[in-house]
Amino acid sequence: MKKNILVVGTGFAGATVARELADSGRFKIHIIDKRDHIAGNAFDPVDDQLKLRIHRYGPHIFHTNDQRIFDYLSRFTQWLPYIHQVQALVEGTGYVPLPINRSTLNKIYNKSLTDEADVKAFLETLRCHHKHPANAREMAENIYGVELTELFFARYTLKMWGMSLSDLASEVLARLPVRYDDNVNYFDDKIQVMPAHGYLGLFETMLDHPDISITLACQFDKAMEKDYEHVFNSMPIDAYFNEQFGALPYRSIQFVHEQIEQHHQPVPTINFTNQGIYTRQTDWRLYPGCDLGANQAFLTKEIPCSYEENNFERYYPVKTVDGAPQRLYRRYCEEARKLAHMTFIGRCGQYIYYDMHQVVANSLKMAKEYLAVNR
Ligand code: UDP
Repeated sequence: MKKNILVVGTGFAGATVARELADSGRFKIHIIDKRDHIAGNAFDPVDDQLKLRIHRYGPHIFHTNDQRIFDYLSRFTQWLPYIHQVQALVEGTGYVPLPINRSTLNKIYNKSLTDEADVKAFLETLRCHHKHPANAREMAENIYGVELTELFFARYTLKMWGMSLSDLASEVLARLPVRYDDNVNYFDDKIQVMPAHGYLGLFETMLDHPDISITLACQFDKAMEKDYEHVFNSMPIDAYFNEQFGALPYRSIQFVHEQIEQHHQPVPTINFTNQGIYTRQTDWRLYPGCDLGANQAFLTKEIPCSYEENNFERYYPVKTVDGAPQRLYRRYCEEARKLAHMTFIGRCGQYIYYDMHQVVANSLKMAKEYLAVNR
């Protein structure tokens, strides 16, 4: 008899665990999702009228240095090459590469820095010397100085997180590489691709297994637990415990769409680092695999907000300098440890600002650990 497992959430975390356990041949997996579709926030269906594939929850770019994770996912999809580039639209200057590079500095300061040594020498004249950089602002100011930090990071961060750069943990900003050359790529990872048939195609193949059954538009209920040997749960961990110690902070994003006949932007997603309400704008035609014959541009602008303002859609765990959200998370973790039949997974279950490949890596690890002790 195969043991019954419940997986809550059909995003990367849940789908990876479900597939890995199903592949062992020892379990029957029931995977549920409160939404009416699979693929979590990577959901990217084709709009037949617009003839565009649109990532419903904002652009998802796959990038990793982990060949093992890429190989694992390659079982479920073919890929299209895509090296992600971002440009910031700066008032009075126009589009400039982001992360800041030599060309960004030349355009902003009307300079003609010619090589890395030039760039480093110039930044040396701008940078601050905070002895023990304690937050994202001081970290950025030590590299770029006050003016560039304000122009590219402080205002964007205020919109994105609803907090000052001084309150944001340095790691969040450290997601962006620091460049002294002409490299215009957003990431440094050696593997950068997009799924050939969308993330939706990838998830459809991943969940297509005789031992996996799916129920959509299905809210998790604690009464379900008794019917299963184990639950892998990607729901927000604080929501599972009825926020008994207080609500964990999460950031969310509202998406505003615009159909427009003539439009040009230099890269698929541009960043607005000004004081306006938007952080990013995506022209879906420009992502490989997304333009299926569109004759108009379809733009999506992002407005970050609290999750309460967006139908309780929790997208980003928050990391502040004082570490308060992580302390609160650890209290929930202690409660979770008492539940031998439950494993929390994914961005909201583990309260970690994971990228896609990191979610897959962690979920594979969780599944393998479970398989090892449940022979
Ligand atoms: N960031 C910024 N300006 C930018 C881009 C990023 O200040 O133009 C900061 C901001 O705090 C953001 C963080 O760097 O949340 C990480 O950016 P990333 O592009 O990795 O965010 P994601 O794609 O996960 O939303």
